[in-house]
Amino acid sequence: GDDGLVVSFGEMLIDFVPTVSGVSLAEAPGFIKAPGGAPANVAIAVARLGGRAAFMGKLGDDEFGRMLAGILRENGVSDDGVTFDAGARTALAFVTLRANGEREFMFYRNPSADMLLTPAELNLELIRRATVFHYGSISLITDPCRSAHLKALEVAKEAGVLLSYDPNLRLPLWTSAAAAKEQIMSVWDLADVIKISDVELEFLTGKDSMEDEVALTLWRPSLKLLLVTLGERGCKYYTKDFRGAVDAFIVEQVDTTGAGDAFVGALLCKLVDDLSILQDEKRLREALRFANASGAITTTKKGAIPALPSLTEALALVET
Ligand code: ADP
Repeated sequence: GDDGLVVSFGEMLIDFVPTVSGVSLAEAPGFIKAPGGAPANVAIAVARLGGRAAFMGKLGDDEFGRMLAGILRENGVSDDGVTFDAGARTALAFVTLRANGEREFMFYRNPSADMLLTPAELNLELIRRATVFHYGSISLITDPCRSAHLKALEVAKEAGVLLSYDPNLRLPLWTSAAAAKEQIMSVWDLADVIKISDVELEFLTGKDSMEDEVALTLWRPSLKLLLVTLGERGCKYYTKDFRGAVDAFIVEQVDTTGAGDAFVGALLCKLVDDLSILQDEKRLREALRFANASGAITTTKKGAIPALPSLTEALALVET
């Protein structure tokens, strides 16, 4: 690719978030419709920060699917890679907010439209045009979207597009933890850039430790950058030649949903602008500071997409 475009592949859905926490789904007095899906959040994060982004995935030809396509367009994200399934409904997630602040998800995927994307429906020309192709793991769970996902990766790789991976573990979607781990690792070696959270690091390594040696068991010679996000402790980075950590910004945290996606989106914005930051530690650290700022801002507001920062907001925090 040659025109600074980020193509983000995977699921886009609606989270039904209860208006109060600490009650069961059935006892919630009401719900807010929150558009989400990590790959869609990343595409919107890129566009909010002034980058060029396209989302690639399948929506239901229903009220929710049309709402989501509208949200992409309103945010300046290309929907050239979006297809609609005439039969299946848009994916939905029902969230339970635990009193301790944790979230639990129940998914409508019966199957949902995103799971029915076929290889033949991929916009291959869009993939080949990308500078960065970003992907997750959830669309690897079942066919036909698994085949579509693998085909998209193959086409991107062949075209020399930089591959960025955030496994985005959502355990209840897999039949078992072992199946999740196996599928996450099945596309690990294709990636040039991987971002995981501290929770995913522990899940994938089986070790409750932030030691570099633990993270480096996930290193591959084909990787250019491995990132571990640590919430309010910022992030760690590993490349072939250097490694280190970048502190987080201090903010008033309200809701962390989407922070990791904002972080990835901000990093990809910097990467498509200049891929050589992967070899330059000083400029990589600047990009990660920008990514930390974008993640931090996202935690200060409810929801994912509504909380993603504009370029002005992110730069204002970076300059503090
Ligand atoms: P994920 O959403 O994938 O679990 P994290 O919670 O680690 O990811 O958040 C991603 C990034 O967002 C962090 O690396 C950090 O820069 C920023 N961030 C998250 N939570 C906070 C917080 N409470 N205060 C400041 N920054 C935060």
